[in-house]
Amino acid sequence: MADYKITLLKGDGIGPEIVNQAVKVLDKAAEKFDFTVEYDEALLGGCAIDATGVPLPQETIDKCKASDSVILGAVGGPKWDNQPGNNRPEAGLLGIRGALGLFANLRPSVIFGPLKSASPIKDEIIGDNMNVLIVRELTGGIYFGERGTKLVDGEPAAWDTEMYSVPEIERIARVAFDMAMKRNKKLTSVDKANVLESSRLWRKTVIEVSKDYPEVELNHMYVDNCAMQLVRNPKQFDVIVTSNIFGDILSDEASMIAGSIGMLASASLSEGKLGLYEPIHGSAPDIAGLGIANPLATILSVAMMLRYSLNQNKAADAIEAAVSKVLETHRTPDIYEEGLTKVSCEEMGDLVCKAL
Ligand code: NAD
Repeated sequence: MADYKITLLKGDGIGPEIVNQAVKVLDKAAEKFDFTVEYDEALLGGCAIDATGVPLPQETIDKCKASDSVILGAVGGPKWDNQPGNNRPEAGLLGIRGALGLFANLRPSVIFGPLKSASPIKDEIIGDNMNVLIVRELTGGIYFGERGTKLVDGEPAAWDTEMYSVPEIERIARVAFDMAMKRNKKLTSVDKANVLESSRLWRKTVIEVSKDYPEVELNHMYVDNCAMQLVRNPKQFDVIVTSNIFGDILSDEASMIAGSIGMLASASLSEGKLGLYEPIHGSAPDIAGLGIANPLATILSVAMMLRYSLNQNKAADAIEAAVSKVLETHRTPDIYEEGLTKVSCEEMGDLVCKAL
């Protein structure tokens, strides 16, 4: 029987409430699918500043590195807004991503049938099972390239550089092909190869990597076309792989298609199995402690962890099916609709466990 060590970074605001529900669901899945989970907790963000003076204590990095995966709630809040930039809770977030070498960011955009009306896109376009996974390169490209300011003809000017090396493109492409193999075996690589040299190398390298994945159907799309296709016909996509900056923009666009911020999960992966799984929303200080936060994004992050880091695909499928089933009748206030039953954060966790 597999035994997993998971580090919990509950963080601030609604972080502890939502992570507690996710743990409950993970325990239930472990019982049902015959594996065990051992938890360790560590501090990140504002709670770490309060306890140790810094947002990312070394002990937190050590605990995360010693585990199979990490579940993060959210960090930040008004209490720490006056901290200097490099000691803010969010600096802890960037720090842990760097310390764990998380170079691949995965954001699924899934429409759960019962929540279709929350999407700004017409029903007939999203259909019943829209499910796109965006794989974004997270530690390279223009956000980390050479940059500067200078005078041009006596006027201030600024520049940034988009640069990718073959090994950087290869490793993100492999993550995307591996994901496609676990899904519908379709990969769209997004670039701007008609204009950018870095994109031409991106495309050439992805084609090279594709030779190791003959079962995956690969196509290429320019980023401007992809932005349009995501709202015109999102069902055509299975997995999308792209650079840091294009992924930043496209993943926000794709997440909006799904409608509600309390539903969106994400994963960041390193070269090993270790991943960090978290909802895409923040610490929601406005509702912290009220017991009304939607725990589903965090619960769905646990499903991602089971699928992508722990290879427990059946448990992942079961959690997603349980969430979909509960949504037919019960909702937290953020996604509430007339005629359904309004429940608290904790009740939602209990209902998902029961549906499992
Ligand atoms: P937010 O995502 O925390 O909240 C935006 C709005 O969505 C709020 O009205 C909030 O109540 C609501 N909301 C968010 N998650 C919800 C949930 N699970 N259930 C119900 N409602 C939910 O964004 P913000 O208000 O801009 O930021 C608040 C704090 O979170 C800031 O300190 C910010 O820096 C931090 N933040 C952290 C992360 C992270 O930890 N990954 C991400 C974004 C923002």
